[in-house]
Formats: sequence, structure tokens, C-alpha cells
Amino acid sequence: MLVGIPKEIVPGENRVAVIPPGIQVLTGAGFKVVVQSGAGEASHYDDEAYSAAGATIAPDAKSLYEQADLILKVRHLIDDETTLIKEGTTLVCMLDGWFNQALIKQLAERKVRCFALEFIPRITRAQSMDVLSSMAAISGYRSVLAGAMALPQYFPMLMTAAGTIHPAKVFIVGAGVAGLMAVSTARRLGAVVEAYDTRVEVREQVESLGAKFVEFDLPQEEGTTAGGYAKQQSEEFYRAQREQMAEKVAQSDLVITTAAIPGKASPVLITADMVKKMKHGSVIVDLAAERGGNVEGTVKNEKTFVDGVTIIGYIDHPSRVPVHASQLYTKNITTFLLNMAKEGELTLNMEDEIVSATLITEGGEIKHAGLRELIE
Ligand code: NAD
Repeated sequence: MLVGIPKEIVPGENRVAVIPPGIQVLTGAGFKVVVQSGAGEASHYDDEAYSAAGATIAPDAKSLYEQADLILKVRHLIDDETTLIKEGTTLVCMLDGWFNQALIKQLAERKVRCFALEFIPRITRAQSMDVLSSMAAISGYRSVLAGAMALPQYFPMLMTAAGTIHPAKVFIVGAGVAGLMAVSTARRLGAVVEAYDTRVEVREQVESLGAKFVEFDLPQEEGTTAGGYAKQQSEEFYRAQREQMAEKVAQSDLVITTAAIPGKASPVLITADMVKKMKHGSVIVDLAAERGGNVEGTVKNEKTFVDGVTIIGYIDHPSRVPVHASQLYTKNITTFLLNMAKEGELTLNMEDEIVSATLITEGGEIKHAGLRELIE
């Protein structure tokens, strides 16, 4: 099969689905590869590096989509891409399926076989394919850097001839993949770090990174779905959480929120009133901004100033670290593909939960039961 790697066209997207070392992995597995000219430019890989790794170069998107049987992408199709893709093509990308119902219908109509990487099950065998974890770790790291740059004060404690500087207080809400990376990054910069998660089992992980786990007295509810993802809590729970978190938020210099719920709007955990009670010059980085945010007043993709507090709602943190984001994504997507490949062809084993959970459309049908129910 001929695998195609297009240039991503979402504005500001700097990642590429496969970097040159990944081309060798694909050709080693019997695939042929064509890469759109300039596809790796924003992640600092040129056409020559792709050619040297064994790919041919297509001059533009039209020529790439015409040739390829299998498209590997970072972001879902937009604009012209939805019409350039040929009938019968296989597409692997982060589809953002719960929020892209019209596109899924279109893919089914065009008889595209689409796999959505965000649906990879959280099982040990699939860990090296888990794009959500790879990208969340980068977001966690980058959230601290963005917060530190916006904070009008030092992070570490310093004892200088000109006086003592007290360390910044950082509070992290949600200690999953992004939150734990934020904890370790903030610790490395010398801040005093505290973290809270609805899953009390992460206490040990937070403490092992040198931070304090904050406990609140909240109603006991299941924090995780059977698939290992964060579960939506009741409104009563969120109200109690906001009340109990208010003091901690007010005392913190930097708050990082990471509580996203897959397929749902993010719960509001910090209200406008709580923001108002923060110190002038404090900063919030809301990593849940894509789905409304954990903070009342977060503006997606923007840095805003509300009552003296900077609120950062960037949703493109991984794209701001494109070299390593693309490297990790390459490992994830090629491992996913090779799990279904034999001598350069795909052989789908629907008994394999990695295949069945990620297959969204095929042969004109929506195969994912949850999405089919929602769309049809
Ligand atoms: P996520 O993006 O689904 O949620 C982010 C974090 O926010 C979670 O830790 C969640 O518990 C927390 N959260 C949700 N609502 C909250 C609230 N109201 N207040 C405070 N915190 C709240 O989760 P994630 O970071 O992608 O992963 C969560 C966990 O899943 C990881 O820590 C890891 O242990 C596990 N995981 C396992 C695998 C695997 O086995 N293959 C892969 C990835 C993650």
C-alpha cells in the first residue's frame, strides 16, 4: 500500500504525522511512502530528509491524495481535504470524533475507512500508541512554561544580597498525565507545588514528585470510566469542589487546570468570583480550554486579563513543541498501523480491541456504536 503523509493545514499546526525515522519503519514493514512537499517544514524536517529516508515527494496535496491508499495525519480533515480524499482510502488521525459528527457522516458517504486515534483503549498493549498521553504530557510541561512566563515574579526561592525571594505557589487541578507533568516541571523550576485530583489513588504519584496532594471533603463518586478516562461528576460534587477549592486558588500564584472529560464540556471548577479573589498578577493556565474550560472566563486560544489575573486558554501546547510532539506522534501512529499490517497491507482483526475501538467508518457505514447512535 502507498502511505501518504500530507502537510497539516489547520492554522498554527506545526506537527507532522510521521518524521523521517518513521518513514524507515513504514518501508521496513513493506509500505511505500509519499510525503507532501513541505509537510515536515514546521517541525524542522525538510524534503531531503524524507527522500533520504525512502519516501517520494508529492508537489502538493492534490497529487498526494490522488496517489495514496492510506493517509496518516495529525488533525482531522478540514476544507479541501474532505473532497481531495479518494473513495476507499484509509485515514488514520486524531478525529476528535465526539465533536465532528458532520465530518464522520461525510467520511462514511465517501466510503473512507477512518480510524480515530483518540479512541485507543487505555490498555498496557496500546500504551505506545496512546496519542492522548503523549500530547497531554507536552501540554502539562508547556502549561508551566507559559504560566511562568506570564507570572510577574520568580518561581524558585532565592536568598540574595538584595533580599529573600519566596518561591511561587503553584496549584494543579487534575493529576493525570498532563497534571503530573505540570507538577514535575513546576518542581524543577523551584515552585512549591500542590495538586488535587478526584482520583485519590494519584496521591502517591503527586507526592513522589515532591508536591503535596490536597484533600477535600467531597461526595464519594466514581472518578474513572471503565475505559480509564475521567468521568463526569454530579453538579452537587462540582459545587462542593468549587467551594472547598476557593481558598487554595486565592492563595496560589499560578493555577493550572487539566480536568477535561472526554466527549463532554469541561466542568467549571473556578468561577469568575474565585478569579476575582486571586492576588493581582496571579496566573491561570486552563488546559481544558478546548471544551469550554475549567475556568469561567477562559477564552479558547487567547491570553486574557480579568480582574488583574492572566488567564491562558491556549489549546495548541503540543504544536508549540513540534519536534518532540511529532517524534512521539510518529511512534504512536506507526505502532498503531503496524499492529494491523502484514507485508505492506492492512489486515483488520476485529477481535483486537485496539482495532475495533478505533474504527469509525468503513464501506459507507459508521462502525463506532456510540457515534452511530449519536449521528443516525
Ligand atoms: P483525563 O485527561 O481523562 O483527565 C485529566 C485528569 O483530571 C484525570 O487525572 C482526572 O481524574 C482529573 N479530573 C477529572 N475531573 C476532575 C475534577 N473535577 N477535579 C480534579 N481532577 C479532575 O486523564 P489522563 O490524564 O489522560 O489519564 C488519567 C489516568 O489514566 C492517568 O493518570 C493514567 O494513570 C491512566 N492512563 C492509563 C493508560 C494506559 O494504561 N494505557 C494510558 C493513559 C492514561
